Amino acid sequence: EPTIEVRALRKRYRSTVAVDGLTFTVRPGEVTGFVGPNGAGKSTTMRLILGLDAPDAGEALINGRPYRSLRTPLTHVGALLDAAALHPGRRGRDHLLWLAHTNGLGKRRVSEVLDQVGLAPAARRRAGGYSLGMQQRLGIAAALLGDPPILLFDEPVNGLDPDGIVWIRGLLRSLAAEGRAILVSSHLMSELEEIADHLVAIGRGRVVADTSVAELLATA
Ligand code: ADP
Ligand code: ADP
Repeated sequence: EPTIEVRALRKRYRSTVAVDGLTFTVRPGEVTGFVGPNGAGKSTTMRLILGLDAPDAGEALINGRPYRSLRTPLTHVGALLDAAALHPGRRGRDHLLWLAHTNGLGKRRVSEVLDQVGLAPAARRRAGGYSLGMQQRLGIAAALLGDPPILLFDEPVNGLDPDGIVWIRGLLRSLAAEGRAILVSSHLMSELEEIADHLVAIGRGRVVADTSVAELLATA
């Protein structure tokens, strides 16, 4: 069963404690919303889960193992981070082909994910000319490339138009229905209420609430 387990995770940058002893679990078949104001530590937590930064204490486990021990990481976990690094001169399709190539994945997956995110018609255009919504779709295509059972999305709704928001909600629902474990961050509770099954709320690097959305709405 795919899970993310965050255990007593801690990260400090000089005088800033970005993540201050976080513990929570992201379960399969659910969208877990990760909510908190800007600066609460959401992006740092995601970077720690993805091994892009090392924790000062605690651990983050993907299927019981640290990210760095995964031999084919893209087949275990896919991520859309806030600042998706897209080379503006590179065509969307070439970006995915390069990712597929460096991760030992076949070209066929590139066509599949381009179809899945609705970017096939624009795949031969340069990413520099993409709207924010198209950039998000390309980032999501990259996250889905290895068909991973675990997905992380950092503020995926940012910059999307209403149609894009509806689209992303449907996509997250169907990915969860396939049994994947999904963590989605937002600084807006209203956004996550619509999408998430479970909510982990953080403030100043600490968990302030960890609850199912059904329970939350029943007590509201
Ligand atoms: P969020 O994603 O919830 O907006 P972040 O994880 O980006 O929060 O940031 C948490 C805190 O850690 C903020 O105070 C931020 O300025 C700080 N921070 C994040 N990354 C760095 C870094 N690389 N160097 C110094 N401070 C950082
Ligand atoms: P977000 O929270 O929306 O992801 P941030 O502005 O917190 O965006 O972070 C964007 C990038 O800047 C991250 O890679 C983070 O590591 C870095 N960063 C954030 N705060 C600081 C900081 N105070 N000093 C240095 N780098 C930072």
